[in-house]
Amino acid sequence: MPTPSAAPLPTAPAQAPSPSVSSDRPRSCPTCSGPVDPDPRFTAWCPACEWNLVPAEEAARECAKSAKELARERAAAERTERLFEEVAAGRTDTTRRDWLAASALAVPVHAVTVAVAAAAVWLLVTGNTPLRCLGALLLAVAFLLRPRLGRAPSGTGALSRTEAPALYGLADRVAAELGAPPVGVIQVTEDFNASMAVVGLRRTSMLTIGLPLWEALDERQRLALLGHELAHQVNGDNRRGLWLGSAMGALAHWYDLSRPRERTRAGYGVVALLSLIGDYLGNAFLHLVSQLPYRAYLVLDRLTARAGQQAEYRADELGARVASTEAAGGMLETLLLGSAAGTVTMRLRAEIQSRPRSGRRDAAPGPDVTALWPQLREHLAAIPPLERERLLRRSRQDGHAVDASHPPTHLRRALLARHTPLPAAVTCTANEATTIATELAPHRTRIARTLLAG
Ligand SMILES: [Zn+2]
Ligand SMILES: [Zn+2]
Repeated sequence: MPTPSAAPLPTAPAQAPSPSVSSDRPRSCPTCSGPVDPDPRFTAWCPACEWNLVPAEEAARECAKSAKELARERAAAERTERLFEEVAAGRTDTTRRDWLAASALAVPVHAVTVAVAAAAVWLLVTGNTPLRCLGALLLAVAFLLRPRLGRAPSGTGALSRTEAPALYGLADRVAAELGAPPVGVIQVTEDFNASMAVVGLRRTSMLTIGLPLWEALDERQRLALLGHELAHQVNGDNRRGLWLGSAMGALAHWYDLSRPRERTRAGYGVVALLSLIGDYLGNAFLHLVSQLPYRAYLVLDRLTARAGQQAEYRADELGARVASTEAAGGMLETLLLGSAAGTVTMRLRAEIQSRPRSGRRDAAPGPDVTALWPQLREHLAAIPPLERERLLRRSRQDGHAVDASHPPTHLRRALLARHTPLPAAVTCTANEATTIATELAPHRTRIARTLLAG
């Protein structure tokens, strides 16, 4: 199901890039004759007029979008900008109203799920054979709509407190600074991201740290990342809660169950014609039926996205309080380097695969895979200020966000810049950092191997 308002969405490029530059790197801007970025490793672009800010092939993808899509994206971007101005001006009085409205809208959604389950049980107990079949069908639907609790990770990727006492110790100090409960479990993944969730029957808080992102950050920025993520326990973010999360999940399932299906051609002549008419009428009916869960989902998404984005800005403020405004800004800037990090992985993967090997060609990469991490850090550190500036301006233009649940990264940075700079409240000693690196060492090897096996 589409989630149109949650994500800040791209808009059309400000200027159509010239196709003539892809093969020959120009020294000056074809539009304003200003100097372009001379570094051949990065996109040639003009900081003065923003020529080629978005490279031609990516701009072509944008141009392929329909007018409706672009209008929807523009409207979402405008809403996001408006919300930013409200938050920057300290007007967050709509948050409570939005959460209440979303929670109220979830009531009939859950009521329908309970009614379906109750009807299924009643039909199974009291009905005759055809009614029992219907009851079994309804029970299957109720099972599909059930609230998903998630599962606390175990095994690969999950770190216990005994395995990683220093990392948990640091997270505990950050949590204490924020007035948040200590994290239940930490897991390490191969994503260039991090997240916080509450899972399982016991509602365990789960911090997920994407190792590529962690490796790309310096010590202070890692604290800012921990600060932002653990702040999700105290920033009033209810999106991940069972009540709203499962209501949205149920609506998505209702939409999926009721949406029109692709037509299937059956028979020839009159049979084909009748089948076509039947399909057409059936799909028209399903389209009408599916509009109810679809519209309800959009309203719920709009309400939770708005309140959720306010909560994200609050988490950034809290992250800055933990690690300093400067570190929080640096962490956000690094979030823009996800595709550069991907490039390092691809390059090293190609290099490893091109080496002559004894044994099977598809065997897992050898122990030198951990070279990925220093290469990643070196590559990201070597990205020149002009390319960083391009990425930042680009993020402004296409509304880059870490994911659909976060405001665009440039707005998150802009909001931090509007506040008085804060010093760090929590620091990480060199010894502590070394111990954490040792605790993560097995995961560094495991994840590098996974990423490089591609
Ligand atoms: Zn120019
Ligand atoms: Zn967040």
